[in-house]
Amino acid sequence: MSKAEPASASTNPRSQPRSVIVVGAGLVGLGCAWRLGLRGHQVQLIDAGTSPDQPNGSQAALGVLMARVFHRSSGCSWRLRQHSLDLWSSWRQELAARDLPIAWRQGLLLLAANAADQERQRLLISDPRRQSLGLELWDRSRLESLSPDLPSGALGGLHSRNDGQLDPGQALEAIGKDAARLGITPLHGIATAVEKRGAGWRVSLKGGGHCEAAWVVLAAGLGLAELLASLGQELALEPVLGQALELERHDAAAPASAAGWSWPGVIHWQGANLIPRPDLPGGQCFWLGATLEPGQRADASTLEALRSLNGTAPAWLQQARERRRWQGLRPRPIARPAPVLEAIAPGVLLASGHYRNGVLLTPATAAWVVEQIEANTTYA
Ligand SMILES: Cc1cc2nc3c(=O)[nH]c(=O)nc-3n(C[C@H](O)[C@H](O)[C@H](O)COP(=O)(O)OP(=O)(O)OC[C@H]3O[C@@H](n4cnc5c(N)ncnc54)[C@H](O)[C@@H]3O)c2cc1C
Repeated sequence: MSKAEPASASTNPRSQPRSVIVVGAGLVGLGCAWRLGLRGHQVQLIDAGTSPDQPNGSQAALGVLMARVFHRSSGCSWRLRQHSLDLWSSWRQELAARDLPIAWRQGLLLLAANAADQERQRLLISDPRRQSLGLELWDRSRLESLSPDLPSGALGGLHSRNDGQLDPGQALEAIGKDAARLGITPLHGIATAVEKRGAGWRVSLKGGGHCEAAWVVLAAGLGLAELLASLGQELALEPVLGQALELERHDAAAPASAAGWSWPGVIHWQGANLIPRPDLPGGQCFWLGATLEPGQRADASTLEALRSLNGTAPAWLQQARERRRWQGLRPRPIARPAPVLEAIAPGVLLASGHYRNGVLLTPATAAWVVEQIEANTTYA
């Protein structure tokens, strides 16, 4: 795929408007629908619906955007991440200009647990391709000056000024509102089949009814199997469950306000993210997550291990009060890299399998979808 978003992602499309059905209104589908709508295309968004007990992957996500510290410095995955992080910055600016701000918590510190981690971080930062990306190695004494204390055992870290976190719920709301302004609101329904109809496509809905359009974008996450089968195709995706916690500091040393936190952003430690949320009531909240559990069943002991950071949690973290817990499923492609961005039939695009990085990769995915549709004149 190409990494360029069309030069002006504005309300003035350079190509003639296309009719497009987007199946799935998680962040990926909603992001695609919104960008297409901004370009003047006629978009019908369909979603099966979610509930607080059964959020989609996007609603359950932590919203950590890890691009600059990605372990490889080349290849499609690297480019996609860098491009998407940059696009998030323009998306946030565009939305803020329409009074729909998405708060951005800047910075990410990747902690090293052992000498091998430290060596990897040293190699990574010495790569010439990363010289201007805002990365810096931190030594142990610098970690020790941070408040509150970091997990015990951290030897050093790689700090990225440009990675960070946004709240996926806030992003869904802001993009959803701007999409609604363009007349794009999700139609509640379960899509069951995609079939060729004349020059375009028909998407059938459970219980009767259908939509027709020249293009179909399948962004239904783990709900793709039936739709792909109707096209004579398959994509092996497996669910990987993630549990997460919202906690609040409750120790005697907890400062009266959020000003007491001196962390340089998200802390990433042995696969877990600690995300300060000074914006939440009380100013002492943070998110901790997420577990990685193949399948759909949440395991209590895995959550417990996360809560104690496998025995490395500092005292203040052990004493923190739980305010909320939640879980969600990530769509992981089997035997192929995430995500899956593919034209699977003339006029049908697959935008799924984003696994652990769907929030990060939403803007680059939407740019790819727009580019595919506008570059192709056959299915107008
Ligand atoms: C706990 C957890 C933490 C995460 N943390 C991060 C993170 O920090 N950073 C990051 O980048 N990513 C993170 N992710 C991954 C990210 O959430 C996913 O990659 C992303 O949400 C995938 O988005 P999506 O829109 O493809 O899927 P989803 O958000 O799951 O949306 C799919 C939508 O399709 C709809 N649908 C399904 N089938 C049908 C059908 N037949 N008809 C109509 N509608 C249908 C569903 O109702 C759903 O709304 C996390 C995930 C989890 C679970």
